[in-house]
Amino acid sequence: MRIAFDHSYARELPGAWEPTRPDTPPAPEMLYWNAELADELGLDADKADAAELARLFSGAELPAGAQPIAQAYAGHQFGGLSPSLGDGRALLLGEVTDRGGARRDIAFKGSGPTPFSRRGDGKAAVGPMLRELILGEAMQALGIPTTRALAVVATGEPVYRERPQRGAVLTRVAASHLRVGTFQYFAIRGEAEMLRKLADYTIARHYPELAGRDDRHLALLQAAAERQAALIARWMHAGFIHGVMNTDNMALSGETIDYGPCAFMDAHHPDTVFSSIDHQGRYAYGNQPAIAQWNLARFAETLLPLIAPDDPASAVPAATAVIEGFADRYREHWLAQARVKLGLDDARGGDDALLNDWLTLLAAQGVDHTLAWRYLADEAEGKSGRLAALFPAPDALEPWLKQWHARHVPRTRRPTDIAAAMRRANPLYIPRNHLVEEALAAAAERGDMAPTLALLEVLRRPFDERDGLDRYAQPAAAELAEGYRTFCGT
Ligand code: AMP
Ligand code: MG
Repeated sequence: MRIAFDHSYARELPGAWEPTRPDTPPAPEMLYWNAELADELGLDADKADAAELARLFSGAELPAGAQPIAQAYAGHQFGGLSPSLGDGRALLLGEVTDRGGARRDIAFKGSGPTPFSRRGDGKAAVGPMLRELILGEAMQALGIPTTRALAVVATGEPVYRERPQRGAVLTRVAASHLRVGTFQYFAIRGEAEMLRKLADYTIARHYPELAGRDDRHLALLQAAAERQAALIARWMHAGFIHGVMNTDNMALSGETIDYGPCAFMDAHHPDTVFSSIDHQGRYAYGNQPAIAQWNLARFAETLLPLIAPDDPASAVPAATAVIEGFADRYREHWLAQARVKLGLDDARGGDDALLNDWLTLLAAQGVDHTLAWRYLADEAEGKSGRLAALFPAPDALEPWLKQWHARHVPRTRRPTDIAAAMRRANPLYIPRNHLVEEALAAAAERGDMAPTLALLEVLRRPFDERDGLDRYAQPAAAELAEGYRTFCGT
């Protein structure tokens, strides 16, 4: 199999990476091959058998033309700055141009130590890698920008965490791995020339419309903030909690990246936290927009010497205005996306109050986020029952529903069309935590991939209700959901 690799990052940004090699796994075994994504990338994988693919996407045999490097980056982790992080358990093989003409990174995760591994082993376990696969594919199907897994290969080697686990290598496909932390790495070191190169590279790759502009560095900040505003609004509507929104985990492409302790929330509540290491709730569901803004402020700081080379401090007001403007940009995206979810086809004053009242109602009664939105479509068709049944005290729902119905007057579309449009915006199937855990346990402990494959199949079409899949639509029993914790698996 031939992959037409390019290496623009390595070529254009010497000093931003270290050469490295993947470990050789003793017994690579393909757990999941994403044929649809392989096709999107234009890989001629059809002729390759599973054993060959397992060797190529685990480090046993490098694909021809690959030039493995570990990327340098810094990052604020839970608010504290780590000046040197870098790819400690990942490496970039190279870039390919997909069928749509877009440049995509192909990278390994869990392929062994790199110059940035510090005390880590550079490895990954089957469970967390399948988790990244499942969550990423779910996000993709929900229409949320995301990195994706091309392959997950078991290495045949144990990795040692709390207890020995089966090791795995995940092949990650990303628009790029440029992060806020990449900029921080050079800003901290006062490397202005590298920063400039990095900014121009980022612009060329993700914001080509800004290339050549004199004010391109401020414009980059603005454009990156705009993409984050759109992304986080999507997360919030999906009930997605990233879990580790460190600045090294914020991609400048605007994709969701680094699926660690992330999870979808069942009962709607702003304070929801799943990650076992997020003791303060810094990355709680409701904090995500503010954290994105905080991360963008760290990004802005790195750009000041580019915006105003002679006097970086003079760039502070303009950069601050962009960061402060993030709140409005986020709100705008959040509202626009919400109108579609609410079945509205125009914008009116008071829509944000309608939306806030709805979410307050869900939070007050601990109602399942996903099902509440989904069953609201029933009400558009005058079929009540399923929605009210989600509420412990359904009487409180009535006045809100009246307002929502009133908001649809004058009606420009038929009720069935409104309901259908709502069902295209409000998924029925999300990766429910108990089902994800069940699938990962089967794969990690018994080598049984069937539950993972079945779950992926359901999640690929999250908006289409299908017979016999009710179990995938329902939240876990309350006692299971209570105290649910996710782990980084690092
Ligand atoms: P993450 O929390 O996955 O975003 O990782 C934060 C940092 O820790 C990054 O620099 C990773 O490369 C590094 N890291 C995570 N797990 C490992 C590991 N098992 N071995 C070496 N480095 C790791
Ligand atoms: Mg990371």
